[in-house]
Formats: sequence, C-alpha cells, structure tokens
Amino acid sequence: MRDENCIFCKIANGEIPSTTLYEDEDFRVILDLGPATRGHALLIPKEHFKDLFELEDEAAEKVLVRAKRIGSRMKKALRADGLNLIQNNGEAAGQTVFHFHLHLIPRYENDHAGILWKPGKTTPEDMQEIKRLVDSQ
Ligand code: AMP
Ligand code: ZN
Repeated sequence: MRDENCIFCKIANGEIPSTTLYEDEDFRVILDLGPATRGHALLIPKEHFKDLFELEDEAAEKVLVRAKRIGSRMKKALRADGLNLIQNNGEAAGQTVFHFHLHLIPRYENDHAGILWKPGKTTPEDMQEIKRLVDSQ
C-alpha cells in the first residue's frame, strides 16, 4: 500500500530523487538531508507503514537484516568508530515523518552528535510496577 501524500512513499519508490546507498524489492536506504553525522542514512520500506506498530511482521524481520548488512558496509566505507540504530515512533518520541524508517547513524570519536541520554533514576518498586503493567497487556 502507498499513501499519495507521503514523501517517504515517493522517495522509497523513486518518484522523488534521493541519494540512494542501497535498494531492493522492499527497501531503499537514502542519505538523510539533515544528517546527525556524516553518512546518516534512513532505511525506508517501499510499502507505507506509519510506524513500528503498523509494520508487518515480514517487513519487520527484514529490517534488522538489512540494517546489519548496510550498516556494516557504511561503517567500513566511512571509517566510522561506531553506529547507532534509531527508530522514532510518535511525536513524543521525535517522529516527524510518519512513514516507518530506521536511522543508521555512523559515529565518530568526539562527533558530539548528542544522541545518547543521561541515565535517570528508578526504584525496585517502580520496576516491579512496570513489569506488572506490561505483563497485563
Ligand atoms: P524522524 O524524526 O525520525 O521522523 O526522522 C525524519 C528524518 O527524515 C529526519 O532526520 C530528516 O532530516 C529526514 N528527512 C526529511 N525529509 C527528507 C528528505 N526529503 N530526504 C532525506 N531525508 C529527509
Ligand atoms: Zn509512506
């Protein structure tokens, strides 16, 4: 399924040009136009899924295999020191384009990309409460 108003549907299916690092029947990997670091790329399915929760299992299974293969090539080619996989779902989580995509972000020593968080605090009681809530779903 495609969404006529979705920019990533158009990019993934080649209607809008992009710098494509990889393409197959199901996915396209493009360079992000507002990169966090040099080589920041997006793995985009050609089918329209709004987010992780809508992504079909078959596509979901393929996502990590593609990320492993292409991420590994990118890391070597760009001589990166590491790589973050990031995937945002919902505005609260920073999603701005509502067509599932996985960020592949090469990391370099001292790149100051500011992607990681400061560890917060929890309690054993709250951890148990969280477990209870999730188990009950
Ligand atoms: P997110 O905030 O997770 O939804 O990520 C959306 C990403 O898409 C951002 O990193 C944008 O820089 C990127 N982006 C938006 N439009 C384009 C485009 N036309 N081509 C390439 N990247 C884009
Ligand atoms: Zn779409």
